[in-house]
Amino acid sequence: MATKKRMILPKSYSWQFFPCALRTSLRVIVILFCLVHAADSLPAAWADESSNFAAKRMQMVDEQLKDRGITDLKVLRAMSTVPRHLFVPAYLKQQAYTDGPLPIGHGQTISQPYIVAYMTEILHIQPQHRLLEIGTGSGYQASVLAELSDQVYTMEIIPELADSAGRRLKETGCSSVTVRQGDGYHGWPEAAPFDGIMVTAAAEFIPPPLLQQLKEGGRMIIPVGSPFYVQHLMLVEKTQGKISTRSLMPVRFVPFRRSQ
Ligand code: SAH
Repeated sequence: MATKKRMILPKSYSWQFFPCALRTSLRVIVILFCLVHAADSLPAAWADESSNFAAKRMQMVDEQLKDRGITDLKVLRAMSTVPRHLFVPAYLKQQAYTDGPLPIGHGQTISQPYIVAYMTEILHIQPQHRLLEIGTGSGYQASVLAELSDQVYTMEIIPELADSAGRRLKETGCSSVTVRQGDGYHGWPEAAPFDGIMVTAAAEFIPPPLLQQLKEGGRMIIPVGSPFYVQHLMLVEKTQGKISTRSLMPVRFVPFRRSQ
């Protein structure tokens, strides 16, 4: 009798409807299952990835920095904290902690970790210091400086790099860094004087405005030399109004450019 009753149902309620509903329900169940599993496994994958990078970072600090004589604990802490892999192009993430510079686009490079640490250490940064970096690039060096002081000003001549570094610094929680696009030759007069100035591109000579903007007792680190010859990393100090310079080591940096 039951079968007869079913026969008089409208077509849409006929038995043919049930396999279709079943298929749809199965699809929904499978999709939900996948979503729940993806939601479960993605954070685990991210956690794995970030702990893998943290391990590489610690190894970089031990082998490339401590073993080569970087001793300032605040610098070592900064270098073990800043996620260098987030400052290199995605395709180079796995190489982020290797012992060398890496391309960051527009013909520019992020410096070797040892050079970043060395230049940071030599500035003798105190928490109350006001710092100027010329050559923001990826924003990595500025981020390391921001671990040591809340007043970091950084200038970048290539507009696209200035924009992307500004965004990256915000995304990585470095809101205390102020980025400006422009020719760093002129420095940042409104924010001067600076306790520390770091130039991360090789200039033919030390730009006079930077010397003027260096505070009494302040320190500047700058690679000086022609792009095609040996450049020297110079430490510049201002004591009682007098400038003294000392050559620290031969280096190779990308050229300091000038706006037209
Ligand atoms: N410190 C950067 C890497 C520096 S590469 C980092 O941590 O990633 C050198 C950078 O200096 C390049 O991005 C280049 O465009 C920039 N630069 C060169 N000449 C400049 C100038 N006159 N003013 C500001 N930036 C300059």
